[in-house]
Amino acid sequence: MNKEQQLEELAQTIKHCQNCPLYQKATQAVPGEGNSQAEVIFIGESPGFFEDREGRPFVGQAGKLLDKLLDSINLPRKEIFICNMLRHRPPENRDPLPQEIEACRLFLDKQIEIIDPRMIVTLGRYSLNKFLPGEFISKVHGQARFVDFADKKRIVIPMYHPAAALRNGIIMEEIKKDFQKIEQFLKDVFQTKY
Ligand code: URA
Repeated sequence: MNKEQQLEELAQTIKHCQNCPLYQKATQAVPGEGNSQAEVIFIGESPGFFEDREGRPFVGQAGKLLDKLLDSINLPRKEIFICNMLRHRPPENRDPLPQEIEACRLFLDKQIEIIDPRMIVTLGRYSLNKFLPGEFISKVHGQARFVDFADKKRIVIPMYHPAAALRNGIIMEEIKKDFQKIEQFLKDVFQTKY
């Protein structure tokens, strides 16, 4: 099976997931979407109202901001892969619980293994703490770190969550600046063999 077929098979498994109770109140699962050959994967927190309704990640307000930020660095959405820590919407968009993150963990791990991206952009503190446990987003946002994950060194770039930027003008300025750095990190990555 090629990467696309593997991702599709995994998406079907995610759509039928009952590993935690979240599926009971959600409309549908949001497996994630994007380019199976992506060099960059973006990982958010969990589906919100619009994502739950459409079955696609980042299609609400936060998604619109993410699209603008991607445009600002000329990174087309169709070139990347986007997914979340959780694949079903938590009621009232509450924070993910540790047991929900654990129940969903293998889906993300498998997507990373299949896509094999060189760069991982975390959006918000939950995906940050998957790769850099104990770190604070306010301290490490916009800084590139190397992390060993799925048998390879990968660059992790922690970003504020776009929803946080929509609530706070200072974070909005920070996220815009941090996105500009992704462009340079990407250039560096493609010039470097490691
Ligand atoms: N916020 C997220 O973390 N993920 C989405 O898909 C939408 C909003």
